Amino acid sequence: MEEMDWSNLGFGYRRTDYNVRCYYRNGKWGEIEVCSEETIPLHMAAVCLHYGQEAFEGLKAYRCPDGKVRIFRADENAARLQSTCRGILMPEVSTEMFIEMVEKVVRLNERFIPPYESGATLYIRPLLIGTSAQVGVHPSDEYLFVIFVSPVGPYFKGGFATNPYVIIRDHDRSAPLGTGIYKVGGNYAASLLANKKAHDLGYSCEFYLDAKEKKYIDECGAANFFGIKNNTYVTPLSTSILPSVTNKSLMQLAEDLGMKVERRAIPEEELATFEEAGACGTAAVISPIERIDDLDTGVSYVIAKDGKPGPTCEKLFKKLTNIQYGIDPDIHGWTRVVID
Ligand SMILES: *Cc1c(COP(=O)(O)O)cnc(C)c1O
Repeated sequence: MEEMDWSNLGFGYRRTDYNVRCYYRNGKWGEIEVCSEETIPLHMAAVCLHYGQEAFEGLKAYRCPDGKVRIFRADENAARLQSTCRGILMPEVSTEMFIEMVEKVVRLNERFIPPYESGATLYIRPLLIGTSAQVGVHPSDEYLFVIFVSPVGPYFKGGFATNPYVIIRDHDRSAPLGTGIYKVGGNYAASLLANKKAHDLGYSCEFYLDAKEKKYIDECGAANFFGIKNNTYVTPLSTSILPSVTNKSLMQLAEDLGMKVERRAIPEEELATFEEAGACGTAAVISPIERIDDLDTGVSYVIAKDGKPGPTCEKLFKKLTNIQYGIDPDIHGWTRVVID
């Protein structure tokens, strides 16, 4: 892909050479197959289409300055997919099979892994769907697990920057005892309208309070929230938040940096007390928050007073990306070399 303009890639789908697939039939997973088709044959009555029995994951492969290609905490994505499978009654994909397929699809598409200097990466998208043809509501008998990849551009094209968010009260992304803790497409369907409203109002993304009381901070669009104050990293503890691998890693790194870490309910008013705050996830690692507007009360929680990312966000971002790129020592054993 010599002619590819890596640094101008957006976050979108680009065709690559191969994907890998595995079918679950008669109560067991079959052999891993390599495929060059972009489409999947699917019955119009497939359970995933009608009743949302589907799960996905998202991780990246990084071309590092030492020439190696690494993936980051794939075992955590496997464990989260297993949790999602238990949550919506799908057969679990073992960690071994998950990692074997991730490594295979990355190696097969090596020519699509962007160079380090571009800031672009290879996004990896595992997808598990219930494929049986049925009209009644019950779990599928057959499943397809597919992993495809797509090169994606750097998240921060103009450099690390802050963004404005808006609290949306008239839509919930997920219910307290619903599927918010699972990575399923239905949560995204539930968020589309709130997301559109936020965009139409000129905000980067919508900001959710807990669905039950509308008092506590939940998720920041499709990313986890964290706030920084008094040398403490604070992130919500809630039954409707997706457990982010990035957030889990940042909590560890904050601890490594000598900060305190708190996972607890965060009342909305506490937003006024944070010195810094960010949204975190695989796509951006950290997207620092400029301000969060509550249009219903007229309160604007301005977090980045000068509009710039704060020093702790910068430090955590640097630390995490340096581990992902094999620049700093990987003391927690988070990365895995896929291509040496
Ligand atoms: C995937 C996802 C995240 C981020 O998780 P990471 O593992 O850090 O990428 C956060 N919230 C939601 C709703 C998600 O789907």
